[in-house]
Amino acid sequence: MKAAWRFSFTVLAATTFCASASAQPAGTDFSKIEILTEKIAPNLYLLSGSAGTDANHEDAAGGRIGILAGSDGIFMVDTQYAQLTDKVVAAIRKISPAPIRFLANTHVHIDHTGGDANFVKLGATLVTREELRDEALRNPALAKDPASLATVTYGLGAPVKFRMNGEVVDLIPVRAAHTGGDTMIRFENANVIMIGDFYRNYGYPYIDTANGGTLKGALEALEALYNIAGPDTKLVPGHGTIINRNDLLPYRDMILAVQSKVQQLIGQGKTMQEVLAAKVTATYDAKVPGGLLPAGNGTSADRFVSMVYSQLKSGK
Ligand SMILES: [Zn+2]
Repeated sequence: MKAAWRFSFTVLAATTFCASASAQPAGTDFSKIEILTEKIAPNLYLLSGSAGTDANHEDAAGGRIGILAGSDGIFMVDTQYAQLTDKVVAAIRKISPAPIRFLANTHVHIDHTGGDANFVKLGATLVTREELRDEALRNPALAKDPASLATVTYGLGAPVKFRMNGEVVDLIPVRAAHTGGDTMIRFENANVIMIGDFYRNYGYPYIDTANGGTLKGALEALEALYNIAGPDTKLVPGHGTIINRNDLLPYRDMILAVQSKVQQLIGQGKTMQEVLAAKVTATYDAKVPGGLLPAGNGTSADRFVSMVYSQLKSGK
């Protein structure tokens, strides 16, 4: 199956293209958001915001949270928007009365990290990529409170392992993908990997180049994930539905096909506006829920195609 990943990359480089780094939904009424709990393994739970309440994430407000519970204390992945902390704590307390000991982040966006400082003040030790800590320092919503900055950091290299509650949790760093500080978080015994946002099945891929993300890195992260996952491993994106590794293949193929079309148009001397007008995602739009909904300055498809264009242009 690994042969499926044998493809060559176009040479790409980081770019200064500025996408909006903020995931804060303007005008979202946080009082309307409920936190829903799903049990995915005997002591592992996923918490998500309710649908239709977050303008940026229509399917489920904010990013998904993971809770590994047990007598050794709680290991938590991501924290949602800061405004939802009380509701998230209430949902955790329905699962377990144990102290929240460790908090890890899939990446820096505040729909995943906004509540970090609140949970640190409740006693959690925040453990993140060094790059994520640097990105947090540049993010006014996070930098205003030093509790948002991780106490323990790690770089690219071997996974950081936690052994708690009969589980082995691996924080697996991936090179610059959705952001410059992405981590996959694997629960070995539960056979679950929380993968953050370098894969998404609600809307088109989003690479936050302003926070160090790269398209090439996202493709490499997909390959690394495919190779780490077994056929039955549950892959949990930060947004959208839970998948398995075979779902990564059409997603990768879609990115490569769009990349190749954009490359062709660049070769014909087209400007970004002309490339956007060519609607190169048209054959995928019906299969990508939320793909034509607003995101950034246009649709999710426009944001994706603009990013691909900028990455290819800067890679020349
Ligand atoms: Zn994100």
